This record gives sequence, structure tokens and C-alpha cells, in this order.
Amino acid sequence: MAFGGNSAPAMLLKSPREIEIMARGGAILRATLLKMRDAVRPGISTMEIDQIGEAFIRSHAGAEPAFKGLYGFPGSVCISINEEIVHGIPSRKRILNEGDIVTVDVGVKLEGMFTDAALTVPVGAIDALTQRLLDVTERALAAGIAAAIPDNHVGDIGAAVQGVVEAEGFSVVRELVGHGVGFSPHEELQIPNYGKAKRGKKLVPGLTIAIEPMVNVGTAKTRTLSDKWTVVTADGKRSAHFEHTIAILEGGPRILTGD
Ligand code: MG
Repeated sequence: MAFGGNSAPAMLLKSPREIEIMARGGAILRATLLKMRDAVRPGISTMEIDQIGEAFIRSHAGAEPAFKGLYGFPGSVCISINEEIVHGIPSRKRILNEGDIVTVDVGVKLEGMFTDAALTVPVGAIDALTQRLLDVTERALAAGIAAAIPDNHVGDIGAAVQGVVEAEGFSVVRELVGHGVGFSPHEELQIPNYGKAKRGKKLVPGLTIAIEPMVNVGTAKTRTLSDKWTVVTADGKRSAHFEHTIAILEGGPRILTGD
């Protein structure tokens, strides 16, 4: 789930023990994303995908879907199709079609610690431009993670993401950003997907953050639908979203929601 300006507690560092709990929650989260990815096919509704995700999370002792009820969100999983960027509400009426792309964005709470991750999945065969959008967004996330090392700054992450995206002629969403995560789903530190190297807060070991490029084929501009949740591209062109929760350690970034 992306940060959209709600109030959140301050940036807080995590102990090695707390990071281990997050890694366990993150492993459940990753498996949940893959479970939902495997379920994606033409004809399935976004509500069915949400239920698969929620049931899988709850099949692990103590694990809960962190987004259910968060700020009043009605689903367990944010599920966004095509021009929907983030925060789509699961519905029985939203049916996936061949050639669509669908973003599943999930939070897991385990033993009081939160993790957050997302990926965009093709529905059957997709066109070449859409495939490039997915590839570039995933590559931008990897570049952002690689920049998340001690003594770098928040701006180094944004600059790395933005560099990959704009070199391909796509745009990064600015109204929504990554964020600190761990003791709560959204901690105060904001991680924009744009910026300048060496600017912003310094990255330190023990920081846990969600890096989440949201990349648009066309304009970076967004609007929010009348459901007050679903954020779409202003021009109706497609958008992709990949997200990991990572810990910044002395030796570099550790992906807590990876394989
Ligand atoms: Mg997030």
C-alpha cells in the first residue's frame, strides 16, 4: 500500500530480533503474492483473488492481513487493474480479461510487526509495451533497493528509480510514495520514486522501508475515483507497481519480502 499523506508515527529503527520477525512475516507475504499470482487468469474476479490471499495469510499461525480495515480499507488485498495504479477495492464485479495487468498489494502483520509488498501480474498474453512496462518497473525497484545502503540518502533511492524509468520513456507517480514500515504499516519516513542523489534523510542500519515504484506508460498525473480509494492514471494509460519491504543493514539492503 502506498503512502498518501495520512499521519504516521516517526521513523524508528528495528533491532535484529524485530527484523527477523519481519523476515518471517515477509516470507508469508511473498508466498501469498505468488499464490495470488498463480490464481490470476481470465474470468476470475478480484474478490476471489482477495479471498485466496486472505485465507493463505491466515493459514499461518498468528499472521493477519494488515490492510484489512486500515484507514477503513474494505479488502484484505489492494487489487488494481490496468490504468488503476494502487488501492483498488476487491469486487465480485471486477473480472479479469485476457491482456489485462493486475497489481496485488498486500500487507502482513505477524507478532506485531508489519511488512508490505506488491507485484503486477499479466493476465494471459499481454502486448509488448505492457510487458516492457512490467520489466522496467521491476528493474526500477531493483535499482532503488541497490541504492538503499548506509550513508546513502533517501534521494539516492528515488534518483535510482527515476533514472531507470525515465530512460525508458515512462513516468513515475509522485503523489504516492514508499514509506517506513515495521512497527506500523506506514511510518513517517517517505521514500519518493524520484529525487536527487545525496538529498534527503540519511539511511542508517536498522531502518526498514517499503520501496514501491509506481510507473506509468503516459502521464505521471493521477486522480482518485469516487470510491475514495482507487487511484488511476489521469490519461487512462496503464500503470505497474512492484514493491518490497527491505531492511538496511551494515552490509547493504536485505529484502524481507523476497524469495
Ligand atoms: Mg507500501
